[in-house]
Amino acid sequence: MSEAQSQQPRNCVSCGRSISWDANVCPYCGHDYRAQVYAGQPRGEQISSGVKILFYLLSFFIPLVGFIIGAIYYSKPEPEMKEVGKMCLILAVLAIVVVFVCWGGILGIGLLTL
Ligand SMILES: [Zn+2]
Repeated sequence: MSEAQSQQPRNCVSCGRSISWDANVCPYCGHDYRAQVYAGQPRGEQISSGVKILFYLLSFFIPLVGFIIGAIYYSKPEPEMKEVGKMCLILAVLAIVVVFVCWGGILGIGLLTL
């Protein structure tokens, strides 16, 4: 009877129901605990949120750097890296548009005052 006590039930992290301790897959929702072992380990390159913000700021204030970072990260296979690269490219384009609009405004005002 001690076997039942040593194998305490645990709650599924996905659906919250109690499942047996040695279950590889949750019988209720199908959450795979074998996959989680690998997901918990850092694999490949990871970008911290601080670095992401730095990249976004650089992309906006120095569009050329944004295009370079964007091109590098957009070619990465990881979806997270791709997303960062895409955002850098979008921000770089946005920054150029803003600069053109500002210069257009300044030139427009300049022409009107001539
Ligand atoms: Zn579950």
